[in-house]
Amino acid sequence: MALLQIAEPGQSAAPHQHRLAAGIDLGTTNSLVATVQSAVARALPDEDGACLLPSVVRYTRAAEPEVGRPAQARQAEDPVNTIASVKRFMGRRLADLPEAASLPYRFIDQTGMVGLATAAGERSPVQVSADILRTLRVRAEASLGGELAGVIITVPAYFDDAQRQATRDAAHLAGLTVLRLLNEPTAAAIAYGLDRAAEGVFAIYDLGGGTFDISILRLSKGVFEVLATGGDSALGGDDFDRAIAQWFCNGHGVEGLAMLAPSAQRSLMMAARAAKETLSHAGSAVIALAHADRSIWQAALSRAQFAELGAALVARTLAATRRALRDAKLGTGDIDGVVLVGGSTRMPLVRHAVQEFFGREPLADIDPDQVVALGAAIQADVLAGNRNGDGWLLLDVCPLSLGIETMGGLVEKIIPRNSTLPTARAQEFTTFKDGQTAMSLHVVQGERESVADCRSLARLELRGIPPAVAGAARVRVSFQIDTDGLLAVTAREQTTGVETHVEVKPSYGLTDVEIAAMLQQAIDASLPDMQLRTLREAQIDARRLLDATEAALDSDAALLSADELAAVRRAMFQVGEALETDACVDLLKAAATDLAGATETFAARRMNASIRNALAGRNLDTLV
Ligand code: AMP
Repeated sequence: MALLQIAEPGQSAAPHQHRLAAGIDLGTTNSLVATVQSAVARALPDEDGACLLPSVVRYTRAAEPEVGRPAQARQAEDPVNTIASVKRFMGRRLADLPEAASLPYRFIDQTGMVGLATAAGERSPVQVSADILRTLRVRAEASLGGELAGVIITVPAYFDDAQRQATRDAAHLAGLTVLRLLNEPTAAAIAYGLDRAAEGVFAIYDLGGGTFDISILRLSKGVFEVLATGGDSALGGDDFDRAIAQWFCNGHGVEGLAMLAPSAQRSLMMAARAAKETLSHAGSAVIALAHADRSIWQAALSRAQFAELGAALVARTLAATRRALRDAKLGTGDIDGVVLVGGSTRMPLVRHAVQEFFGREPLADIDPDQVVALGAAIQADVLAGNRNGDGWLLLDVCPLSLGIETMGGLVEKIIPRNSTLPTARAQEFTTFKDGQTAMSLHVVQGERESVADCRSLARLELRGIPPAVAGAARVRVSFQIDTDGLLAVTAREQTTGVETHVEVKPSYGLTDVEIAAMLQQAIDASLPDMQLRTLREAQIDARRLLDATEAALDSDAALLSADELAAVRRAMFQVGEALETDACVDLLKAAATDLAGATETFAARRMNASIRNALAGRNLDTLV
């Protein structure tokens, strides 16, 4: 019992091609794009060498908005038309934004997502985000020298469906193909290669300019699951700047920042931020503020003093972390790794506090501003199918193709490798022999053309196919893989509905190294494999022709003269011999062509005879 493919041909994986793919961190304050080149993920800089694009867009009467630094530079001067932190408005209605009243924008309250009135007309948060994404797309395409085939965009783990859909819409508007949205903490974990561990629970501590997020992830069977998220959407690096500014004011007899003129407030906040950043690598920093009367206030801040000023803020992040752990029903001892994300985790006081809290040194070697985009780039590269035989695999894609044995010991791939999980594909097969009532299905894994070179996963049998001529039955074979990598194979005869089912764990027992070796073998063997497939297919055609001729001779040999019969027999013998001796494809094809030629007249006579039989005894009236 064997199978013959009759439908949906050409579903197997296309030959390997490098496709340009990128990871995009669409952040609240900054956004960036990264890609994998020569197996290394790196962030792509703009023409001035800056990787971070401030997530700020300014709309004027000009056709094109200003995006990034030019927009940020005009923010104080034109606050109404300069949209910053638009991520907070994605997928949100005005009623969802309690902070709206304190923002300088002209919000438009509408049934769907909130709108923004600008000098260039009404803009939705999706359009503003699309302008940021378009800038990154142009940057990436200029730097990579081609069109991006697909991108991964990161979103906070707590984003709901509306926020995720808004992000997808923005990408679409920017002309990008989204391979997948990826949770930001998962991207950070991938950048550190944590997905290559077998199992583990990880904490991702993300302290940015204005927000704090903590996520607890569990890696199980190669898939990251978000166990808990928490944080504070109004706690970030800016609060540390404010604490320094407040301390500075107090030192100069001013009660609070609000007592200063707006321009002095801005200057002091900038000086405070610079001092904070200096203290990440120096023991002390000087803060100076020039007044309109030309007097200058100055103060030196030591790292120890700053640690005191910031202690309460850090304690708030740890309280939120404790809550997230409680939600996940875990203790700090259950955490197998801690990852630091966000520019504010450069502060030594934050690093020390996190290390003390978890009792382990956090992972912090990758630039905390880039880590999310780098992880997204790594996964984009995998999903685009560019990872090949280098031993690196992400397990929430299917690492090797899955298929089914067909006639001649060949493999028909049903799920191509690197399909993202979960996935499902189906193909139709039919019977090979007249009256065939059962089919055996052999499920295999691998990239090679021949079953013998692939890994056998399971065998199942479908019984109860109604007897019919070869090729009449329609058996639909479906492959389904869930997020845990569990493969379910179902074969169903379409007319009767009889079906059979089996479940297998495809990656079970294979290490990444073994998978990589199998891929390499497939690449090395691609030419001989193609030749083998051509030969096997020619053998199948020849065998069918031989069987059909034999059956025709059994019933209608009388239609041939002795000479004609001898010629057909001779041609049959040649084909039989070519099959038996495993002759080369050219010889086999030549023998089969001769046999087809020798049986041409025979076929015509059989056709005439069967028409004569059908018409015998019937008059013309019954036929029209
Ligand atoms: P992000 O939103 O992740 O880009 O983080 C921006 C925040 O990181 C701002 O508050 C920056 O002041 C802060 N930041 C950047 N570099 C440093 C540094 N070297 N030390 C302390 N904070 C920093």
